[in-house]
Amino acid sequence: MLSVNGLSVRYGPVEALKGVDIEVEKGEIVAIIGSNGAGKTTLMQTILGLVKPHSGKVLLEGKDITAMPANRTANLGVSLVPEGREVFGTLSVLENMRMGLKRRIGSVRKEQFNKELEPLFDRFPKLYERRTQLAYTLSGGEQQMLVLARAMISRPKLLLLDEPSLGLAPIIVNEIFEAIYGLSKEGTSILLVEQMAHKALNLASRGYVIDKGSVAMHGDSDELLRDERMVEAYLGAH
Ligand code: ATP
Repeated sequence: MLSVNGLSVRYGPVEALKGVDIEVEKGEIVAIIGSNGAGKTTLMQTILGLVKPHSGKVLLEGKDITAMPANRTANLGVSLVPEGREVFGTLSVLENMRMGLKRRIGSVRKEQFNKELEPLFDRFPKLYERRTQLAYTLSGGEQQMLVLARAMISRPKLLLLDEPSLGLAPIIVNEIFEAIYGLSKEGTSILLVEQMAHKALNLASRGYVIDKGSVAMHGDSDELLRDERMVEAYLGAH
C-alpha cells in the first residue's frame, strides 16, 4: 500500500532523514518509534507532500507520489492527523465532521451525512453528546477524538497519525487506540508515530525505530517488544 524507498530529507545542513525504507500493507498498523528530533514528523510530512525529499521515493499503491503537493496526495486518500489536534475551533463538532466528509465527496447531503455519522457517534458517544458545541470548548481528549473521527469520515486509504496520545489521560488513550484498531480492521492502513512505544507496539503489527534520521531497527511488534536494545532505549519505563 505504502512504500517509502531510500527517503532522505535535508533542512539546510540538517539531515533529518537518511535513506529511510518503510512498508505498510493494506489494513496494517505500523508504529514509528523514536526520540525527540529523530525525524518522525518529517517522515509523515514528506509522505503527505508537505516537505520535499532530497532523494528517495514514496509510492502509494505502486503510484509514485514523491513530492506531489499535499492537496493531491490527500485526494488520493492520504490523511495526516498532525501532532497537536487541529480542530476547527470556532466550528461545532458537526461542522467539523461535515468538513471531513466534504474532503471525500465534495457536496454533502443531509441524509448521507447522518448515515456516515452514525457509526462514528457509536464509537465516540461523547462527540454525539457535544455535537452542537464549538470544538474549542471540548477537552483535549475529546478534541483528539474529533480529529480522528473527522479523518475517519473521509475514509482515508492511509492515515498518518502523529502522536495521537500526547497529553491525554491513559483511559482516553485506550479509547483512541481502540478507534485506530477499528479503523485498520475496515481496511485503512495506519502509520502511527508514538512516544508511548510499548502501547504503540502492542497495537501495531510491526514497528520501525528511527534514530537520528535512519531506521535503526524494524520488525514484528512482538520481536521488538522483546528486544533488549528496545527495552533499554524505549520500553524501560514499562
Ligand atoms: P519530535 O518527536 O520532537 O516531534 P521528530 O522525530 O518528529 O521529533 P522532526 O521534527 O522530524 O523529528 O525533526 C528532525 C530533525 O530535523 C530535527 O533535528 C529538527 O530539529 C530538524 N527540523 C525539523 N523541521 C525543521 C525545519 N523546518 N527546519 C530546520 N530543521 C528542522
